[in-house]
Amino acid sequence: LDSTLPASFERAEIKTFVESYDNFLFDCDGVLWLGSEVIPGIPATLDWLRSMGKRVFFVTNNSTKSRQQYAEKFSKLGIHASPEEIFSSAYAAAVYIKEVAQLPKDKKVFVIGMDGIRNELDNIGIENFSLQDDKPLFEDSDLLQYKPDDQVGAVVVGLDRNISYRKYAQAYQYLRYNNGGKGALFVATNADSTFPMSGTMYPGTGAILAPLITALDREPIVTGKPSLNMLEAVFAQHKINPSRTCMVGDRLNTDIQFGLQGGIGTLLVLTGVNQLKDLEGSSIQPSFIIPGLVNLSEAKD
Ligand code: PLP
Ligand code: CA
Repeated sequence: LDSTLPASFERAEIKTFVESYDNFLFDCDGVLWLGSEVIPGIPATLDWLRSMGKRVFFVTNNSTKSRQQYAEKFSKLGIHASPEEIFSSAYAAAVYIKEVAQLPKDKKVFVIGMDGIRNELDNIGIENFSLQDDKPLFEDSDLLQYKPDDQVGAVVVGLDRNISYRKYAQAYQYLRYNNGGKGALFVATNADSTFPMSGTMYPGTGAILAPLITALDREPIVTGKPSLNMLEAVFAQHKINPSRTCMVGDRLNTDIQFGLQGGIGTLLVLTGVNQLKDLEGSSIQPSFIIPGLVNLSEAKD
């Protein structure tokens, strides 16, 4: 380990850290993989944790895939994971709409986002639709097509690589006028300002959301980290003790904030978005820091 790290672990400390927890929640991008490449040594590190009886769960803010699609990605990267261990912001949005907001059965959901969100809504039995056309311009003649559809009870927004003015305009109508003038339920899978891909950063779901927030002067319910929806889903579906649970992540304002708000342990890894310099002056401080998740296996006997 790099001895210049302020909170860097000695081998004995890593051992004590690993022994302090029975359950680990792992953020995915920046911790397990970078885009489509697994971080070397991660599959073996997770297998080693499992071999000691640790339970592992995965919590990602990336809403573009369903749990089933993530299970396939994990398998392709050589990481053992079952769909029940995987929690994504798209799944959390579907659970929120059904169980917390209790959207009436005769209402449907308008989706801005990729397939992951629609798949999770389908899986949970909620009718949903999105705008498939990618006509770029909003023509005057299009105005005639905006018949307010009061059956739309909620709008979910996630990262959409085909975002368009038409989608915003349609979402705005539902969010502003439906539900007897109170507006449809406004849900965002996550609000990450950016996300990393191929060594650079791209505008994230937070950036996709901003025009709607501005137009409506209204904030969405966010189901991804740092909101605790995914933690509550893990606790509801698996019997685990919060005081023996640690969140491992690479981003302070999502992962580490999530762990701190959830009252569980927090471990920052430096293989993703945030680096040591980002800790200076930040109000969000992890309990532990380690260069990479693979370094945990330095505690191996
Ligand atoms: N959203 C998108 C679209 C992403 O591509 C990523 C990471 O690649 C994220 C969010 C953040 O995902 P995670 O929470 O696994 O770091
Ligand atoms: Ca991450």
